[in-house]
Amino acid sequence: MKLLRHIANLGYGSRREVAAWFRDGRICDAQGQVLDEDARIAPELVRFDGEPLDPPPGLVLMLHKPVGYTCSTKDPGRLVYDLLPRRYRYRDPLLSPVGRLDRDTSGLLLFTDDGGLLHRIISPRSQVPKQYEVTLAQDLRGDEAALFASGSLLLEAEKTPLLPAEMDVLGPRQARLTLHEGRYHQVRRMFAATGNHVVALHRSQVGELALDGLEAGQWRALDAAGVARVF
Ligand code: URA
Repeated sequence: MKLLRHIANLGYGSRREVAAWFRDGRICDAQGQVLDEDARIAPELVRFDGEPLDPPPGLVLMLHKPVGYTCSTKDPGRLVYDLLPRRYRYRDPLLSPVGRLDRDTSGLLLFTDDGGLLHRIISPRSQVPKQYEVTLAQDLRGDEAALFASGSLLLEAEKTPLLPAEMDVLGPRQARLTLHEGRYHQVRRMFAATGNHVVALHRSQVGELALDGLEAGQWRALDAAGVARVF
């Protein structure tokens, strides 16, 4: 692929903008030699304003999503993309959230532009465990863990029961829940089925991958070892 198109596909700018950056001498090799748009050079050796280019498709990153941000590219409110470099919203293929979190949920949110990886994580067969910390409006009844583990809980308007999920009680109104699937508003609906109401929800882990000190609003790219912790 031509270097100009490669840089545009990474989301840095339109082809016209990237062409102008070549003309302005902003795209160089690692020795500072200005490149032209037809240069035959491995993308990892290219520098834009002195910085290496983002990795080619196959990028995976994790964000500590704060409450109040939506997992969408267009929404009148604040978007999770607002917390990432602007170019990540325009990558081709698109950098998509992997298994969305509600606007009022915080915690670990993965993004990738790798369709195969996306499918491996969110496919119903993958069953990657997702761990949530839940705060409730009312005290736990005491039978929730058994109900969630039973594999027989049927949520309203659904035809298949939920897969067994593990729940640990952390306090009278606090629990840790581990799910092996990802249905719409699943945690909130599970507790609604017990007559309770979730007042705060935080995803702390996906597979073996945890936030590891990443503060709300911060993100980082995952290397192969990081991605391997998801499975
Ligand atoms: N379950 C929910 O109800 N909301 C989320 O954001 C994630 C899981």
